[in-house]
Amino acid sequence: MSKAGVAAPFCPQVRFSGAGGGVAALAAGDLSSGLAAMLAARVGSSADAALPRAEMRIDLGDSVASAHAAPIALEGDSFDVSRAGGGAGSILIRAGTERGLIHAASNLLEKLGAQFPPGAAPSYPRIDSARVGALEAWRVTPAFKRRAFVSDIMTWNYNFADRLDLHLRHDREFIPWMARRGINAFSYICHAHDTRLKIDEIAPLLRERAIDVEYGGHVLQLLLPRERFAERPEYFPAGDDGVRIARGNLCVSNPDAVAIVRAGALAYVHDHPENRLLHIWGADVWRGAWCRCGRCRELPPQIQYMTVVNAIAGALAEDSNAPPIAYLAYHDTIDPHPALRPLDNVWFEWAPRERCYSHAIDDPACEINPHYLESLKRYIEIFDGRGHVFEYYADAILFCGLGFATPAVVARDLRAYRSLGVTSISCLTFGAYSAMAYPVNLEAFVRGSRDPDFEPATTLADISSGRHPRCAPEMAAAYRAVERASKLCLDYGDVMRPLMPSEKAVRKRDELREAALTFNEAIAAADQIALSLDTPLADAEKDLWRYSSDVLAGLSDYLGARGEAGADRRIRGKAAIAKVAGAIERIREIDPEIKGTWGAYDLEWIREIWLSALARGLDGDGKPPEELF
Ligand SMILES: [Zn+2]
Ligand SMILES: [Zn+2]
Repeated sequence: MSKAGVAAPFCPQVRFSGAGGGVAALAAGDLSSGLAAMLAARVGSSADAALPRAEMRIDLGDSVASAHAAPIALEGDSFDVSRAGGGAGSILIRAGTERGLIHAASNLLEKLGAQFPPGAAPSYPRIDSARVGALEAWRVTPAFKRRAFVSDIMTWNYNFADRLDLHLRHDREFIPWMARRGINAFSYICHAHDTRLKIDEIAPLLRERAIDVEYGGHVLQLLLPRERFAERPEYFPAGDDGVRIARGNLCVSNPDAVAIVRAGALAYVHDHPENRLLHIWGADVWRGAWCRCGRCRELPPQIQYMTVVNAIAGALAEDSNAPPIAYLAYHDTIDPHPALRPLDNVWFEWAPRERCYSHAIDDPACEINPHYLESLKRYIEIFDGRGHVFEYYADAILFCGLGFATPAVVARDLRAYRSLGVTSISCLTFGAYSAMAYPVNLEAFVRGSRDPDFEPATTLADISSGRHPRCAPEMAAAYRAVERASKLCLDYGDVMRPLMPSEKAVRKRDELREAALTFNEAIAAADQIALSLDTPLADAEKDLWRYSSDVLAGLSDYLGARGEAGADRRIRGKAAIAKVAGAIERIREIDPEIKGTWGAYDLEWIREIWLSALARGLDGDGKPPEELF
């Protein structure tokens, strides 16, 4: 109270260290603008050279307490919020790193009621100033040290200026969201035909937030340039018939071929010192990429691959600035070979793409996941605990563009990974499409990477209110239906590849039909939203669920047709494929600003591959799925 007994306007001030880079300033700016919106007051932020680099203060009263707080140990991106000074005093925010301050700022605003949903603007509800003064101390130590998102570079469609611009508009919203939610690394996946290994246009957005960048991906093919094939076919892998082919990886029994790949990798490391983890992966195929020549054919894929990775790692071991190397456990390397002997700077990167997402990874009731969990445990043993887990909770390709939500699976998975000692976790994303189709999973992932004991049902409700403030109850009911539908669909790998043993196909046919009907429940829930409300995000998600329902109904019919014999099989099968194909019209209705480049362009070419594989599946009885798809 002022002397005259009139309440003075409450005008807290944010101070940050002037000594650091711009990261603390950005965190302080986020905090002051959020507080200003919530308090409807002016909240300044200013540099104070007396503060340590990874510290901010919110001064609540007139008297500014500058006394140094007793030091505390904060590991990594951990942060601690406490009170300093007497009277109104200050709120003291300290982190182990400057980027930890960004996460701390949004976490403080969350405690006051702000929300940071993926794919939508933050919300800053009006609050009483007393709530700021009443904040109690707390501390956050993220459960996982590396918390990463991963994307395929090609999905930026960087050869088309307008498509690239569309993706960049999403990035300008999504990258600040990542930082606020505590994500601390971003990894680019390069494919053989890519001409870029990163997106330069977003580098400043990541750098300003001190988000680590990681390069690599399916680069072995690039490290042995295909132009060498004409003069040096012996560098390249041989097929079963002994004939050398320009596709695939390399002949690891040829020391010159290994030397070329190693030199290429070293040049890569040298040219990109900002790269924090070098992902050296083989060709993105099921099998056939490793060499079957007379000298290699006795070597399993895991051993051939490790030969190359260790050759690179050995050359980098002397350089203390060099990043560690990731060995991808995926497809034909998902099971560890007991003879694997990784060097100390090699980490496994375990990517269980075809696992079941209807169950958690450690659910013994699942018919698929126990094998995967066993593979992970053996990798952990062989690599002495050095490992990353690469997850697919927002994978638009695996999920074939359908909308899904599995927050309880994400939660239990992350608890299982953490209990095995894994401290590095990543999630594949497809830009705006993932935010539209998997917002609950994205939120579950960021919450769980900080604390895997988060509550999945609350997450689902929070995403409904954060993304859909005007129709939260209807959308929460819809998301719950989507979650039920997800459980019925996600136990056979790629959703658009429903090839499985006939016994399972009989069951799955009914389950996919039920899932289609469950998506209709989601649509019916969203139909309860008052027509007078303008809800473009909800409308887009409703179109997505119509697509999902139509595709699943078509796939159910398809499984029915495959169970038939004779002419019926083709007639009914073709009708089923036509139903799946026609579903795309629902996605075409959606605004490109919401579905992003993947929904507008990539889905259009990828679906042709899925559809022609479905057609081949009608006459390809008896062939293994990987030869049909
Ligand atoms: Zn060979
Ligand atoms: Zn399962």
